[in-house]
Amino acid sequence: MQDDQRVFDVAIVGGGIGGTMLAAILARHGVRVLLLEGSGHPRFAIGESTVPETTFGLRVLARRYDVPEIEHLATNGALRRHVSSNCGVKRNFSFVYHREGEPTRAEECTQYPTWGPPLGPDSHYLRQDVDAYMFHVAVSYGATAHTHTVVDDVKFDEDGVTLVTREKGTFQASYVVDAGGMRALLPERLGLRQEPPYRTRSRTIFTHMVNVRPFDTVAPPREQHRMPSPFSQGTLHHLFQGGWFWVIPFDNHSAGTSELCSVGINLDLDRHPRPEGVSAEEEFWRHVRKFPSVARQFEGARAVRPYVSTDRTQFSSRSVVGDRWCLLPHASDFIDPLFSSGLAVTVMALNALSHRIIDAVREDDFDTARFGYLEQWIKRMFRFYDDLVSCSYVSFDDFELWNAWNRVWTITTLYGTNAQNQAAVAFEKTGDPASFTALETAPYRGLQGVDNPWVSQLFEQARDVVLAYGSGDLTSNQAVTRIFDLLRESGLCPAAWGTLDPQDRCPSGVFTLWPLMRLLLWGRFRSPQHVRGTYFTGGARLVGKEAVQALTTDVRRGSSLVQQTVRDMWVNWNRDWTRREIPSRK
Ligand SMILES: Cc1cc2nc3c(=O)[nH]c(=O)nc-3n(C[C@H](O)[C@H](O)[C@H](O)COP(=O)(O)OP(=O)(O)OC[C@H]3O[C@@H](n4cnc5c(N)ncnc54)[C@H](O)[C@@H]3O)c2cc1C
Repeated sequence: MQDDQRVFDVAIVGGGIGGTMLAAILARHGVRVLLLEGSGHPRFAIGESTVPETTFGLRVLARRYDVPEIEHLATNGALRRHVSSNCGVKRNFSFVYHREGEPTRAEECTQYPTWGPPLGPDSHYLRQDVDAYMFHVAVSYGATAHTHTVVDDVKFDEDGVTLVTREKGTFQASYVVDAGGMRALLPERLGLRQEPPYRTRSRTIFTHMVNVRPFDTVAPPREQHRMPSPFSQGTLHHLFQGGWFWVIPFDNHSAGTSELCSVGINLDLDRHPRPEGVSAEEEFWRHVRKFPSVARQFEGARAVRPYVSTDRTQFSSRSVVGDRWCLLPHASDFIDPLFSSGLAVTVMALNALSHRIIDAVREDDFDTARFGYLEQWIKRMFRFYDDLVSCSYVSFDDFELWNAWNRVWTITTLYGTNAQNQAAVAFEKTGDPASFTALETAPYRGLQGVDNPWVSQLFEQARDVVLAYGSGDLTSNQAVTRIFDLLRESGLCPAAWGTLDPQDRCPSGVFTLWPLMRLLLWGRFRSPQHVRGTYFTGGARLVGKEAVQALTTDVRRGSSLVQQTVRDMWVNWNRDWTRREIPSRK
């Protein structure tokens, strides 16, 4: 190997979804990037369900850094067209409550739909396909990438970093990003791992299965449960006291090509300690059998890969950035799969990290202070999700408490997502990537509206109510009443939403075009002062434009497929191979 293939501006350890997106962005902007992945592609990875803040964040990332391939991950239509038809669609988050030994009750479920086209819907990523796609994109932009190359050690000196690999010798770089996920190297080498400072204490068992039945075939009839979106077309959460199952189908749409469904169970460590001498598989099925409706859904289901059983799912690092190094969020901390926050925090971090690294390389200045924002905001988000998740486990005690608490999350999600949209709309108007710096300025920083004083006040007060219930200072009824009062007093609930009506269990309604317009109109003209002018200030034009683009793309694609089939029946030569340009560096 030549010497210049051993010296880089930035080395990225780990070629998962986070490392590959970062490599693509940096290479696109002329940074000499080395990407080292210990295994090969495709390979199994967990972290499959997106949320609107992930997909909106991906659009921002793609546009800000001019890497359109990242936007292919942002809506399910584009994902299926460009990346893999093995991915599933996520039209909703559904939460169905279960009691031991009883079939589920029709009225004990809640739902929050994801956005309809053109801004959605969200997706279930078959990560092996998505990560392989992004890996190839990174290489096509000029990243130097090696698979089957495990980084065993990283040494720092004044001039930079030396990476010692097991298979391919050493490499030099000015800066290293550890994108190695939960078993990342740097936290271990630098002694960063710490006892997770989080209230959430859970463990997880998961696998991929075939033959998992659509829950709609075993659930009470639609007229009784009254959810607007099919359970089987979203991420289904089966909630019970002290835990929850996820069901993430990849085989849930008419154009799908996968047979698979991701399933897992998360258990409160204190209420459900790991039993001695019981395999992960046996423990999983023991829990399934407790709940008749879940058992019916899993009748005939079979695992296609080994069950994985974790110890405490939470992990944490003392720091996220240091002298010439940075951790991506999943190398630093993790809370729990509930609310699918992992990818959203990763995308948020990539947004803030990429321009800092590009500037640092151009100015040859890697001062740790330049990266301090990452330290603050990544940790801030993990603290938020710890509150959200730990209170959710508490609320699983009683469906009515969950029914109240999860409305608070629908509001934080609304403002978090809209903040990203505000930046995208500003960019649409000006074409200036500086529009995206608003996402690092109050009140849009972070996710879930954490930087907005009204949103965070609602969240923190409602959190304290759930904690007061957990410590026995309030009854469940008192906690529910107080949370609804807080929601009402906040003024943050859109008029068209049924958030203040406990009987409305899908309070946001759906996010198809007309309800979306009503939401924008409320925000623009009827919302309280602390919302108006800051959120919902635009978007109708952008949505309209993208709706037309989405329809045109689908029509063109449909007719082009027909044309190709007819042509191939008669002619052998074609010019299909001319369709793509080779991605270029800036
Ligand atoms: C049980 C569970 C469920 C989850 N569910 C969701 C979900 O539904 N939605 C969501 O948004 N998030 C979820 N997450 C979080 C999600 O998995 C992560 O946010 C996401 O995978 C982060 O991507 P990444 O590329 O940073 O890391 P990873 O996907 O973990 O990739 C790390 C890569 O680094 C490589 N690597 C590690 N060490 C080395 C080394 N020394 N040398 C070379 N290569 C190395 C590994 O081989 C791997 O390919 C879940 C997490 C867990 C634990």
